[in-house]
Amino acid sequence: MSETQLEMNLNPATGNRLRDALEHGDFVTLIETQVPPAEMDRDAGLQRLEALEKTVLARSEGYAALAVVDNSSRSDWRAAELASGLPGDNRDRHLVYLSGAEMDEKSVSDLLHVAAHAGLRNIAAVSGEIPEKLRTARSCSQTPFTESTDILRMLTSPPYDFYAGATVNPFQYTPYTLLGSYYKMAKKFSCGAGFLVTQAGWDMLKLQSLTWYLTGRSMFYPHIARLILLSPERADSIRSGGMPGIKLSRDMKKMLDRELTLSKNQFESVQYRRLELQAAGCRLLGFSGVQICGADIPAKAEFVLQRIRAALEEFSSFETWLDEYNAFMAGTEIAPFAGDFQLYDRVLHRNYPFDAPPETRELPEPEVSLPEKAGYFSRSFLFGETEGERPGRSGCLKRLLTGCRGCRVCHLPVKNFICHETCPMKLLNGICGDVDADGDCPVTGRECVHHRILRLAHWRNRLPEQEKLIFTDD
Ligand code: SF4
Repeated sequence: MSETQLEMNLNPATGNRLRDALEHGDFVTLIETQVPPAEMDRDAGLQRLEALEKTVLARSEGYAALAVVDNSSRSDWRAAELASGLPGDNRDRHLVYLSGAEMDEKSVSDLLHVAAHAGLRNIAAVSGEIPEKLRTARSCSQTPFTESTDILRMLTSPPYDFYAGATVNPFQYTPYTLLGSYYKMAKKFSCGAGFLVTQAGWDMLKLQSLTWYLTGRSMFYPHIARLILLSPERADSIRSGGMPGIKLSRDMKKMLDRELTLSKNQFESVQYRRLELQAAGCRLLGFSGVQICGADIPAKAEFVLQRIRAALEEFSSFETWLDEYNAFMAGTEIAPFAGDFQLYDRVLHRNYPFDAPPETRELPEPEVSLPEKAGYFSRSFLFGETEGERPGRSGCLKRLLTGCRGCRVCHLPVKNFICHETCPMKLLNGICGDVDADGDCPVTGRECVHHRILRLAHWRNRLPEQEKLIFTDD
């Protein structure tokens, strides 16, 4: 194949209706489906997907699209491969996820090639959840992970020109998990992301904070909230911690317990009402759309699309929506633990757009113990001049005291003398969505390395420096 032919195939000159809808301010509803397990016959998996696609894309009023999500396990189908088998007319109305878990850059690159040749236009990059079998430091460190920031660079660098999406987990409840997630999100935009999808959750306060943060930093990118339509089975699984990254408060657990005692019809009607309220709220809070998981059967998808459309018509005023939402929630506390940190004052009291910028809150004093302070000063004395150093210069003492892994370029001084390569997933650009509610790493059981870097940065009054580092290439 000649170079010209290759270039033409990789950059099909078709439009991109999903991108147009998002960028022109249409409120988009994406119906999400997971790739089927590997045991399922490929043709059967494709037929299921085709039936769903037909229902979703048949909507003429409102904008609807299909999202195909990668599972975290390599033993399942990859979303890009499966979506490439769908009929060719609507590939610009699909959002396909690409997870870097258990993938090296070569495998990611091969998948991108498949997606580009199939004419897929919209890809969301995720680093991927940590699969259960890898939740030990040893197995995790021996497994390849391609960080979402690297996938984003690949998606938007020649020969590719995908409309690239990033993900963020805004449901964070300590200052450093929250800021860490925001900083990483900004890094993803600097790596080429053109839109954003949140992790699934219920906390509308956190969704509004995200919009305010984006606006306050002039990051005017379309953003989509991922919402869950619960079935009794899924509610039960979430209650027992079966969905990684989703943390429930005691109040929320009690609420689900109560709902699970209802009749099937009553249970469903509560779930649909919650979904309607969330979707309508998202639009009023400045989101560009919602992605619904738990509705990937055609009849259910059809019903969800109708209900969301009706809810968007029902709520055109923020105040009316807020009254109804508060009545529905009946004071249920969503934050999963008592130390809930909010970056802004008066969240869910004001609409978007707003007349005056939101006021940020003071961060609480960081907890830094005396031994930790002493450790910081001794490492600073020993390694204060190592910024930009090449790996050959790393010595035993550096390895012992900072966890140094001999990175391509040393950034110890700006990382408060903690080597970010000690993250078991080797994520260099910030906190992952799997971090525990209190900032601990689910793999090591100790404080997440990026959480610690930010906590020490705050103690040293250097948080703004960490935010600026977002735009520094590693
Ligand atoms: S160290 Fe932090 S970013 Fe790395 S895997 Fe653990 S929680 Fe995620």
